[in-house]
Amino acid sequence: MVKVFDDLMKEVTTTGYCLACGACVASCPHECLAMEGEAPTLKKTCMNCGICYEECPQVIDQRELEPKIFGRELSDEEVLGIYRQALSVEAKPSDIKARAQDGGAVTSILASLLEGGFIDGAIVMGIGSLPWQPSPKVAKTREELIACAGTKYARGPLFLRLRDAVDLHYCSRVAIVGTPCQIAASRRMQLSELTNRRLGETIKLHIGLFCMHAFEYEKFFRGVIEKQLRTPLSEVVKFDIKRGQFIIYRRNKPRRELALEAVEKYNYFPCRVCFDYTAELADISVGAVGSPIGQSTVLIRTQTGTEAFDAARRFRGLNVLGLEEVKPGIRVIGKLSREKRLRAARELERLKLLGKTLPVWWQAQPPTPKEEEPSQSTAQP
Ligand SMILES: Cc1cc2nc3c(=O)[nH]c(=O)nc-3n(C[C@H](O)[C@H](O)[C@H](O)COP(=O)(O)OP(=O)(O)OC[C@H]3O[C@@H](n4cnc5c(N)ncnc54)[C@H](O)[C@@H]3O)c2cc1C
Ligand code: SF4
Ligand code: SF4
Ligand code: SF4
Repeated sequence: MVKVFDDLMKEVTTTGYCLACGACVASCPHECLAMEGEAPTLKKTCMNCGICYEECPQVIDQRELEPKIFGRELSDEEVLGIYRQALSVEAKPSDIKARAQDGGAVTSILASLLEGGFIDGAIVMGIGSLPWQPSPKVAKTREELIACAGTKYARGPLFLRLRDAVDLHYCSRVAIVGTPCQIAASRRMQLSELTNRRLGETIKLHIGLFCMHAFEYEKFFRGVIEKQLRTPLSEVVKFDIKRGQFIIYRRNKPRRELALEAVEKYNYFPCRVCFDYTAELADISVGAVGSPIGQSTVLIRTQTGTEAFDAARRFRGLNVLGLEEVKPGIRVIGKLSREKRLRAARELERLKLLGKTLPVWWQAQPPTPKEEEPSQSTAQP
């Protein structure tokens, strides 16, 4: 029997596993849904078509999508997912470097693809009416991309803007940038059999971000940083996580640092059971870890990713090194990836012991990652 929005509510939203990604809302062909705060909500009579359920990343094990993307399943040793190339990249343009979080690889790749006519829009995360509150945007120019550069460590309803890109901006070739969970949602939109094809077929490239956790906007950014620490968010020019510290850079004032361990309790609930550190379903994954400060680590995973990266490199130029040429290199990414998997497995075990509802996608505890070098993938998807 087809599962519908009622099932999504029972299995995902009321159990606390909703990611507030907005994929279900954007996909409903009858426009029955809207985001209310962080919750998808029924606004008119559901036609029971089942598309919203089929787009949700929280009702399947994302490993089911691997064969569709890569032509095979992941082996237990491939803790970084399947990839072809591991690079350390820095954007050449100074306007991008000045606004970027790390090496500016994400913004630079997208700007080149836009300017070269390979895509006609990108769905990226800007800031909304409240300071540092993530708010998705459709970027169609280099300036709009640069305005959205930099990491916002909370979450936002990315896919609401995909519908705008198609309906209001008439885009037909769109790149999505997102955290691993958002990339999983995007792949569902692209690959599910029951899907809103009008949106899914528009997605041509997935750029995933490494992600250990995101922090609740109200409780952490407003409650802790603004109220407890008396640091107005409007004074903050950048947030960063480095060497176990959550770092707050303020305009014309000394930076502040919070021990990551002490603030992890403000992670969103689904982050605690999330296994994917490196956006394993993306065409290209980008993070800070593995590269020297000021450079981005780039994992190219698919043929689409290879073509996009090569096109971006030819068009404007990126400084590119092999990840094996830089320090700390790939080993540390493997270590963090394993740590995230173990953290999720432990939390699921804890929830099980407490008799709490477990996520639908969790059927069996995944194999315990081994302490060895991340193996170089040989797949050529
Ligand atoms: C919540 C979160 C947690 C992260 N955790 C880690 C980590 O543990 N280790 C690590 O190495 N890297 C992590 N990253 C990735 C890192 O912060 C950089 O985004 C990455 O290195 C790319 O840098 P860049 O200079 O190439 O990107 P830029 O050129 O600055 O572009 C950044 C892009 O990220 C997008 N973006 C920003 N915030 C969000 C968001 N909340 N949701 C979706 N998209 C967003 C923007 O739209 C922009 O397109 C995290 C990112 C996020 C969003
Ligand atoms: S997508 Fe289909 S099942 Fe979901 S809310 Fe819309 S009409 Fe109902
Ligand atoms: S698609 Fe996204 S917003 Fe909708 S229920 Fe699933 S996780 Fe939540
Ligand atoms: S930790 Fe997982 S669930 Fe949380 S924002 Fe990152 S990818 Fe999404």
